[in-house]
Amino acid sequence: MTAPAVLSVDLDALARNYRTLERLTGVPVTPVVKADGYGLGAAAVARRLMLEGARTFFIARLSEGVLLRQAVGPEPVIYVLDGCHGEGAPAALRAADLRPVLNQPTQITAWLDSGGGPSALQIDTGMNRIGVRPEDAPEPFAGLELVMSHLACADEPDQPMNRRQRDLFAQATQRYPGVTRSFANSGGCFLGPDFAFDQVRPGICLYGSGPTGRPDDRIAPVATLLVDILQVRDVLAGESVGYSRGFVADRPMQVATCAAGYADGILRRYSPDGQVWVGGEMRPMLGRVSMDVIAVDVTGLDVTAGDQVEVFGPNRLLDDAAAAAGTISYELLTSVMPRVPRRYL
Ligand SMILES: *Cc1c(COP(=O)(O)O)cnc(C)c1O
Repeated sequence: MTAPAVLSVDLDALARNYRTLERLTGVPVTPVVKADGYGLGAAAVARRLMLEGARTFFIARLSEGVLLRQAVGPEPVIYVLDGCHGEGAPAALRAADLRPVLNQPTQITAWLDSGGGPSALQIDTGMNRIGVRPEDAPEPFAGLELVMSHLACADEPDQPMNRRQRDLFAQATQRYPGVTRSFANSGGCFLGPDFAFDQVRPGICLYGSGPTGRPDDRIAPVATLLVDILQVRDVLAGESVGYSRGFVADRPMQVATCAAGYADGILRRYSPDGQVWVGGEMRPMLGRVSMDVIAVDVTGLDVTAGDQVEVFGPNRLLDDAAAAAGTISYELLTSVMPRVPRRYL
C-alpha cells in the first residue's frame, strides 16, 4: 500500500553530514536523536550513524532512551538530557542502561543514593534553562563520565555570548580533570576549533539544516516531504479556494489539491507565504491549510492527479520552507505526524 504523503529520509546524506561535522571539528560526533531523531525516526538514524562510527547518543526523555536502547542494542552509550527525573527514574534508567545528564544537586543525590553509575553533569553557562551554575558546580563524584553545557546563540556566530559561554565552560570544567567535555551543538561545530572540546553534540545539521538556520553548501538535505496531488481543478476568476475564502482567483487558474494538511504536519502558518516545488518550479500554496489537504497554484503546469509536490527537500530547502512558515527547521521536521510514513533511501 502506498501513502499519499511520505517523508523520505536519505540515510547516505545523513552519513555525509556526520562525516562533515567530524572533519570540521576533528573530534568524535555524538549525535542528538531526541524527538524521534528530529522526526526522521531515531532507530533508523541511530543505526546508520553507528555504521559511520557513532558510539554515543543523546535523547531528551527517558521513554525515548528506552526505545532507542531496544533499537541499537547494548553497545552504544545513551545519555538522557532530562537527567534523573521523576519517580522510579533511577531504576528505569539502570534497567535500560541509560546515563542521566544530572542537572541539579537533588538529581545528583537521587542518582548516587540509588547506587550511582555512569552519568553526566550539565553546567548552565548562561542559557538559564537546565544545569547547575558554574559557581555551584559540585565536587567530582563517582561515575561522572561527561560534563556538558549548551550554547544559547550558536546559530548567531557574531553573538558575543558564544565566547562568554565557551570561556565559562572551559573554566568550570577545570574542576573535572580527565572527564570528557561536550559543548557544541550544530551551530557550535562551526564556531571554530576552541568550541569543539572533546566531543560535539549536533542534531539539526545532521538532519539537513544549515548551522545558522539558512541553507549551507556544506550540509546535504536529508529529509524530503513529498505529497501526492489528489485532483487538479479549474477555478474561475472570482471563485475562492478552501476555507473562509482564504484565496480568491483574479483570473482562471488550475489548482492542485494535495494530500497533506496540518494533521500531517503542514503547519497552518504556511499560509499565506507557503510554496512547494512542483512540475520543475516553485509554486505558491493558495488559501488556508486544511486538516488533510493544501491547494497549490499549478496554472500552466503539465501535472495531474498522482504527481507529487515537494514541501521540503533538495528543491525546496528545509530552511527556506521553515522561513516561509515563520519558524525553524526543527519545528518543521518534528511536526511531521505519525500518519506520514517514513521511507528510508
Ligand atoms: C537539542 C540539543 C542539542 C542539539 O542541538 P542542535 O541545534 O540540533 O544541534 C544539543 N545539546 C542539547 C542539550 C540539546 O538540547
